[in-house]
Amino acid sequence: MTDGAPHPSGSAVDLLIDDVALVSPGEPVRRGWSVAITGREIVAVAPRDSVADTPARRRIDGRGGLCAPGLINTHNHTPIMSVRGMVEDLGFAPAYTPGVPQGHWLGDEETFALARLGLAELLCQGCTTVVDFYNRPDPLARAMAESGLRGFVGGRIMDVDTAALANGRFETRPDLGEATLADNLDVIARWDGRADGRLRCVLGPHAVDTCSPELMRRVADLANSDGRIVHTHLAQSKIEVERVQTRYGKRSSDILDEVGLLNDRLIAAHCIHLDADEIKRIAESGTFVAHAPTGNATGGEIAPIVDLMEAGARITLCTDSKSGDMFETMRAAIKVARIRAEGRFVLNAATVLEWATVGGAAALGMDGRLGRIAPGYLADLIVLDPDAPNLRPIVDGVGILVHSGSGPNVRTSICDGHIVVENGRPTTFDLETVIAEAQGVADALWERARAAP
Ligand SMILES: [Zn+2]
Repeated sequence: MTDGAPHPSGSAVDLLIDDVALVSPGEPVRRGWSVAITGREIVAVAPRDSVADTPARRRIDGRGGLCAPGLINTHNHTPIMSVRGMVEDLGFAPAYTPGVPQGHWLGDEETFALARLGLAELLCQGCTTVVDFYNRPDPLARAMAESGLRGFVGGRIMDVDTAALANGRFETRPDLGEATLADNLDVIARWDGRADGRLRCVLGPHAVDTCSPELMRRVADLANSDGRIVHTHLAQSKIEVERVQTRYGKRSSDILDEVGLLNDRLIAAHCIHLDADEIKRIAESGTFVAHAPTGNATGGEIAPIVDLMEAGARITLCTDSKSGDMFETMRAAIKVARIRAEGRFVLNAATVLEWATVGGAAALGMDGRLGRIAPGYLADLIVLDPDAPNLRPIVDGVGILVHSGSGPNVRTSICDGHIVVENGRPTTFDLETVIAEAQGVADALWERARAAP
């Protein structure tokens, strides 16, 4: 997909990214090429000599460095990044552990401050699209609008009391279900399609063990009424699978199927504890899997991602509130899959790059618009440091990007045609303020957690 010259011929483009090594999924690397952008779209991709004279309102000199599509992160909760560095050694579901800040302590302003930090991190590391959901979706959406990122925001719909669940008791709280569903519907009404269309809203039922089937069915009806994307956690832990088995005598995927959610508008995060029948059904239903290799491995788990892929399931990648580095995620996906495959060389750089770009785009209903560097696609792309020793030599481009690249190598990020990161710093946020505010919120939360009985 190349175009000999920017069009219309001779007229100025908004932005010309000159002299880069283009890495786009499914295509050989193109060294010494340039990308022209007008408005929110890529209008030309061509050898630099053929576009050297094109007038451009703004020019970025790539100096031969790598340029790739902006990375698409299909599952994250930016506010939980506040407990990062403190919970990874504590076991599963540390958010319900005494001595750790509890998610429900976060008010709107705390959520906003932490979301801004998480989004700044994602931006600086080359992620240009993220699915983010938590229990206060409105401040999440507000932070997303400000960030310049392309965001899909949802609430955290649930009607099972998680505090009781942590103590082994299953208690349904219809009031909680109503309140969390109302929050999600409210964020849809207020934010869907806002920020020049960069912001979209999804429905976010938390998981099969924290939502009653009745609540899940209501979500399915709502999603079917307007074709909305639904996002949930699926088979994330043995505990979840056992609870669902004990309560309903079924597997988690069976419940999703029965309530009408297992379809090609569902993005299911984790998908670790699945049996062979569930893998087949997920693949046949067109459900998208959000694979979180880093978070899963921190918990000692590896999802059967190669089995899912071979069954035909559609796969995307996510950081799930761990490091915001999607390069690390791509690499981890390969490593853990090879460990699970007992040394077989399953997966490769090209496959995981597809998952992190066109795979994510398909899951978000943006197939053909997002995830490639090609004319007619939205201008979401990243330019990496041409002087980074870890990114040389560039031979096929994909291998070095995936196996050796890292978030801090990103110098420029462009989202929807706008430069949102320049010289590795966000242009949309005052980073010092964002860091100071988030640190203040985290300090107060940890002080409260230490004082809690
Ligand atoms: Zn999650």
